[in-house]
Amino acid sequence: MISSDSMMPEGFARLFAQKKLTAAVFLPVEVNGHVGMYLCFCESEKKKKWENADVKFINDVKRIIQTILTKRITKNSLASSYASLEAILENVGCAIYVRDPQTGHILYANEKYQKFFKKTLEELPLSPVSLQDATETKNGLFREIYSEKENRWFDCYSTHIQWVDGRKVTLCTIYDVTDKKLYQQKIEKQANNDFLTGLYNRMRCEQDLQHFVEDTHESGGEGALLYIDLDDFKHINDGLGHQYGDILLKNISSGLKQIPGVNDNCYRMGGDEFIILISHKVYPNLHNIIDRIKAEFARPWRLKGTEYYCTMSMGVVRFPTDGDTVEELIKKADIAMYDAKCAGKNRVAYYDENVISTSFKRLDLEKNMRNATRNAFDEFEVYYQPITDISKPGMPCSGAEALIRWNSRELGVISPTEFIPLAEYLGLINPIGSFILREACMRCKYWNDMGHPDYKVNVNLSVVQLLQNDIVEQIAEVISETGIDPKNLTLEVTESLAINDMNRMKKILADIKKLGVRVALDDFGTGYSSLNHIREMPIDVIKIDRCFIIDIGKDDFSNAFVKMVAELASAIDVNVCVEGVETKEQLDILMGSKIQLIQGFYFGRPMTAREFEEKYL
Ligand code: C2E
Ligand code: MG
Ligand code: MG
Repeated sequence: MISSDSMMPEGFARLFAQKKLTAAVFLPVEVNGHVGMYLCFCESEKKKKWENADVKFINDVKRIIQTILTKRITKNSLASSYASLEAILENVGCAIYVRDPQTGHILYANEKYQKFFKKTLEELPLSPVSLQDATETKNGLFREIYSEKENRWFDCYSTHIQWVDGRKVTLCTIYDVTDKKLYQQKIEKQANNDFLTGLYNRMRCEQDLQHFVEDTHESGGEGALLYIDLDDFKHINDGLGHQYGDILLKNISSGLKQIPGVNDNCYRMGGDEFIILISHKVYPNLHNIIDRIKAEFARPWRLKGTEYYCTMSMGVVRFPTDGDTVEELIKKADIAMYDAKCAGKNRVAYYDENVISTSFKRLDLEKNMRNATRNAFDEFEVYYQPITDISKPGMPCSGAEALIRWNSRELGVISPTEFIPLAEYLGLINPIGSFILREACMRCKYWNDMGHPDYKVNVNLSVVQLLQNDIVEQIAEVISETGIDPKNLTLEVTESLAINDMNRMKKILADIKKLGVRVALDDFGTGYSSLNHIREMPIDVIKIDRCFIIDIGKDDFSNAFVKMVAELASAIDVNVCVEGVETKEQLDILMGSKIQLIQGFYFGRPMTAREFEEKYL
C-alpha cells in the first residue's frame, strides 16, 4: 500500500514515474491457496493517502473477485475433468451404463454400449441387471450371459453408486468374453476328447461317472457302467496294420454312439477299451442297450475288402449297489470284464461280489507281472522237459521243450497256465516270449557244443507273438546272436480260432520255416484244429495233447484218435510227439504205433537247465 508520501523501493519509484502514478494498492488474490492474480488500485491525478475506509472498500472488492474467480475455476476444471472422464469411459473396452432402478431409465451409457451391446442385450431374455442367479462378489454382483443368437458371451458386473443428484443408481459394466470362452472351450475339448474316435476320454468319463453316482444318490435310482474290451483286437492291429485297427476303432465308436441311450456317454478309455455310462434315467433300458451293443459286434466289419469279426467282452457294474466311488466302479467293471474274457470272451459278465477274491488276485498278478518284466526277468526261469525218441534203439533223449516258470517274490510260484493268458491279454507275452526264446536257444547251442549236436529245443510261441509284424526278424536275430543251428530249434504254435486270417498265418509260418527252423502244432486235438489245417499248414511235428493219453488203453476213441493221427502224419511225412505219458502201460501201447517222440513225466518232468544237463549231457 503506497501513499503519495510513502517511501518506496527503487523498482516501484520507476514504475510510478513511468505510469505517472501518485499512489497505489497491490493486493494478491488467492485461489485454492495460491496467488492467482494481483488486484491493483491506482491514483494518478492527485496526491493520495490511503484511509481506513479505502482499505475496507478495497478488501471487499478483493473478496468479491476472489469468490467469482474461485467459482470460475471450479466450473472450468469440472468441465475439463468431466471431459477426460468421458474420454476414459468411452475407451475402457467394456460397455458401461448407469440406470435408475426405479424408473428403468438409462442415465448414462458409453458409446461402446450404444454401438455394440445395446441391441444384443435388449434381445436377451434376461437383462444383465436382473439380479437373479447372479453371484455376489466383493464389488457387487456378477453374471455371465450368453447370447445364443450371436454365440457370444458376456461377463456382467453391477453395483450401486450414488448419482450426481444423490439418488441411488445401478452401474453396469459388461465385457465381451467370447474369445476367452471359445479358447477355453477348445482347451476343454482337447482335454476331454479322444483324438482318434472323437469320443470323450477317460478324464471326462471319470467326471461324468462322479455326477451320475451323485444323481442316483439324490434320485434314489440306479445306474450302470459297462466296460467293453474288444476281443483279440491285437490280431487285427498287428495283422492288418495299425491304420486298419484305427478304422475299426472309429467304426465301432460311431456304431456305439448311435445306440439310443448311449449317445454321448460312451468313452474311449485307451487302446481297445470303451466305457458306456448308463444314467439312472436310462437304466430301465439297460438290457435293451446291452442287446443293441451285442448286436453291434455280431456283424462283420469290412476292412481291406474282407469281412472281419471283432467281438467284445463286457463287464457290467451297477451303482450305487456295487460301489459308489469312481475308482472302485471302474476297477470292479474291469474285473467283471476280465471274467467275461476268462469265460471264453464274446460275452457279458455282471460284477459279482463272490468272484471278487480271484479277480483281485488277477489285478495283483498284473501288477507283479509288469514289475517282473521290468526287472530283467530275474523272477522267470526256463525249465526243460526231455523229449524221448522211441523210434531209436535205447530210446535216447532227443532234446527238450522249454517251459517257463515264474517264481514271483510277492506271489510265489505261478503256473504258466495261469499267467500266460494274462500275459497275452496284456501284451507282456512279447517281451517274456523273446526272453524265453533267447534263453532256450543259448542253452541248446551249449548242449550241441557239449557233445550232443542233435539235441533240439522246443519253444512255445503264442499267437500274440506270431502276429507281431517283425516276428520273423526277431527269430532270425536270436538265431544269429546265439549261434544255434536253426534246424535244432522247433517252434510250437497252437492253432486258435481267433486267427481270422488263415492265409496270413500260413504265410508267417512259411516265412519262419525259411529260416530253417521247424514248426510244431501243439495241443493237437483240443482246439478247433481241423485235419484240413494239418495238410495246409507248413508244419513238421504234431504234438498230441495229453488228454488223449490219460485214457489210452481204456477208451476206444482215444486209441483210435492217436492211431489215426500217427498214420496220417506218417503219410504226409510229419513227426508225431505224444505229450503226457506218465506210465509204462501208456508207453507200451504207443510203442506199437508209428509214433516217434514221447514227452511226459514217465521220462522226466520239466526241470532246471542244470538238472537237465546233469542228467542228459
Ligand atoms: P504245453 O506247451 O502243452 O506244455 C506241456 C505241458 O504239459 C507242461 O505244462 C508240462 O509240464 C505238462 N506235462 C508234460 N508231461 C506231462 C505229464 O506226463 N503229465 C502231466 N500231468 N503234465 C505233463 P506247463 O509247464 O505247466 O505248461 C502249460 C502250458 O503253458 C504249456 O502247454 C504251454 O501252452 C504254456 N507255456 C509254458 N511255457 C510257455 C512258454 O514259454 N511260452 C508260451 N507261450 N507258453 C508256455
Ligand atoms: Mg508246448
Ligand atoms: Mg502241449
